[in-house]
Parts: sequence; C-alpha cells; structure tokens
Amino acid sequence: MRMLETKDLTVGYGHKEVVRGINIEAFKGQLLCILGPNGSGKSTVLKSLSRLLKPLKGDIYIKGESLSEIKSSRLSKILAVVLTERLNVGFLKSFDIVAMGRYPHTGILGGLTKLDEEKVGKCIAMVNGENIAHRYYNELSDGEKQKVLLARALAQEPELIILDEPTTHLDVKHKLEVMAILKKLTRQKGITVILSLHDIDIALKSCDRAVFVKNGEITAFGSPEAIGSNKAISELYDIKDAGFNAFMGTVEFSNKNTPSIFVMGGGGYGTPIYRLLTKNGVGVNTGIIHENDVDFEIAMTMGLDIQSEKPFSEIGETSLVKAKSMIDGVHTVIDSGCPIGGINKKNMELLTYALESGKRVLSIRSKEELSNYLGENSMNIEFCGNISKITDLVASILEGGKHV
Ligand code: ADP
Ligand code: MG
Repeated sequence: MRMLETKDLTVGYGHKEVVRGINIEAFKGQLLCILGPNGSGKSTVLKSLSRLLKPLKGDIYIKGESLSEIKSSRLSKILAVVLTERLNVGFLKSFDIVAMGRYPHTGILGGLTKLDEEKVGKCIAMVNGENIAHRYYNELSDGEKQKVLLARALAQEPELIILDEPTTHLDVKHKLEVMAILKKLTRQKGITVILSLHDIDIALKSCDRAVFVKNGEITAFGSPEAIGSNKAISELYDIKDAGFNAFMGTVEFSNKNTPSIFVMGGGGYGTPIYRLLTKNGVGVNTGIIHENDVDFEIAMTMGLDIQSEKPFSEIGETSLVKAKSMIDGVHTVIDSGCPIGGINKKNMELLTYALESGKRVLSIRSKEELSNYLGENSMNIEFCGNISKITDLVASILEGGKHV
C-alpha cells in the first residue's frame, strides 16, 4: 500500500522555494531516508510532509487522500512526528511524556485507562526505555530523550512516523539502537518511517529508499543500492578533501602529498599504515595489491598512487617493473607484513630491490619470516615487530626530517 506520495511538490517559506519538483513515494513498512547537505531543505520537506508547513505547490497524499483534506483528529492517528526542536516540558517524567502520545485516542482530558497505561508501557519497552520511564525527562541524556520521543510517537499507534535527524546528537551505540528500533517498527509492525539522517553509512545500510536533496531539487530517489554510488555521495555532499567508499562504508581523507614512502600492502595490512601516514601528511604510494583487496579499496578512496594486479592473478612482470619505479621515487619502503602466498610473493622482490637501491626498509614481519624470503639481505631491514609500534616508527621518520 502506498502510504505517502507527493506530486510535483514544491516546499518553502512564503515566496522562497526551498525544494522544487518533489515526486517521491513511500510504501507501507518502508524506511525512507532523506539525505543532503546542511541547508538543502530536508527539514523543510519533512515539515511539509507532516503538515506543519503548507506546500507552495503540488500535492501530498497519505493513503491516497490529500493531506490538506485529512481531519486533524484522523491524521494524528495515522501520523506521528518527531522533530529536532527541543522539548521544554518542565518537570515531567518520561512516562508522562510518552503518555501524551495517547491523546489522539483519549482526548486531552480523557485520562488514561488501564489499557492506555499498558500501551504506554509497551512503547517504552519497544525503545528499551524501561530504566528511564520514571526519571525526569529534563534530566536525561540526548540519547535517552530521543528514545522517549520515539516512544511517544509510538504511543500514537501511527502508521507513519516522520523524524528529523533522530540520531544527530547520539553516540554510535545510541544511533545504532535508534535505527534498529525504527527498522523493527517497519518490519514487525508495518509502520512506514520517513526520516533525515547525516550518517551516510548507517543511512544507506538501513533504508529501503533514499532521497537525495541538493540545490533545491531531488537529485535522486531510489533504493540505496541503486543510487548510493561513491560518486553520487561525494557529489551530494561536495566532498573534496576526502572520499566516500559505499562498498566499505567508510570515509577516507584524501592524500595528495607527493609520495615519500612506498607501502607494500595487501590483505588489509596496508590500510592502518596508509591512514597513519595520511594523518601525518606524509605522501604514500602502494603496491602491489590486488584489485579485489581491501587495501585497494581504501587506497583508491584516498586517491593514492597504486600499482595493482588483476583479482586472483599472480603478480606479473609488468606490475613488478612499475612498482620498482614507484620505489625509485621514495626514500622509505614499509612492508606491511601482509600474508605472502602464491599470487603475491613477487612483492618480496620489491624489498630486495629497495635495499639494493639504498632505500630505508621497515617491516612489520617476523625476522624469521623475512630471512626465509630474503636470506642475508633481511639483516638490513629495520623494525621487525608488531603493528602497534608503527606509530613510533612514523614519528621517527618524521623527526628524521626525511619526509618530503
Ligand atoms: P536542512 O534541514 O536540510 O538543513 P532546512 O530545511 O532547515 O535544511 O533549510 C533549508 C533552507 O530553508 C535554508 O536555506 C534555510 O535557511 C531556509 N529556512 C529554514 N527555515 C526557514 C524559515 N522558517 N523561514 C525561511 N527560511 C527558512
Ligand atoms: Mg534540518
């Protein structure tokens, strides 16, 4: 069932159009997420969908009925709204705030029946809020307050809940908890949830449909799998100094510095070193990593120079030659300690090459393993230890003034 639909909707204030040409829809039990940079109009759209703001043009339909024509008493049984505005409630306990959600059913003066009280209790349980029910709302943390507001919305027994940035001030545990609760409502109770979020990774992994808002328009509407590409997300937020990797769900700072250290990566062993060097402003290039390797994903998102090899193929001569020329341009090579197997063992030749070219070579591999591969040459490699020491190591490189 189509719970909400907009037709050529334009929203804004007075003569000011904020978002134009909105054609979106949300079905029963779907979680629809509005994403866009600050000021793009997410709240304006949500307020309009909640009938708190009159549309400038076009129409909104809820369950096929024009929103402007639905009686308030009926609407409050269909729709619950959780906005960002801080609630100033004096000395009320959480339970009483959640109980306010029953008004559409009891009337303001109606008072709660035993059944209403039970329902309030259940809503509190649904948000895992039993321990805060009898505490004063004003004395709760942001995460706890958000749960209370969510429980209040649930107490309305709505079919549709609209929330504006319900996770914004929450720590990661509470963000995930709120999202898990919302997800459960859609799946178990068939409630439709429409919300705005800033956590792009969480959003793309939770929602059924995403709406991208930018420059006064809906730039995309569809499933996050279809529209949430790296490029689309970077463009949506105008990300310049970092990259987004939808596949990995990670944001990485770009590293555009001239490479002074070559990292021999693979199997994810390169990633913490890329990040450490990037954080310290040291230019990095890397190889020889396979294109299906997690290090490849991260290095690519950072914009590093990469010498890669085709997935599951043995490192070829061409890659080796190119990687050697990358090493020619740096002063230090770091062996990430990645596992060495049939298809990437040629990387060990890079270490020999680096030593023979007079480069400083550091390794996070056991001395024993190094000597197995490199024999006598391994004596000239510095630092064989565990990865936690890599920070000191980088500090020593930086202090040595050897970095570009
Ligand atoms: P978002 O929620 O995406 O950060 P908003 O919907 O809050 O964006 O704001 C979109 C635009 O509408 C902004 O330019 C903002 O300044 C403007 N705006 C927000 N509220 C009002 C208002 N009450 N009157 C006029 N303009 C407003
Ligand atoms: Mg907003």
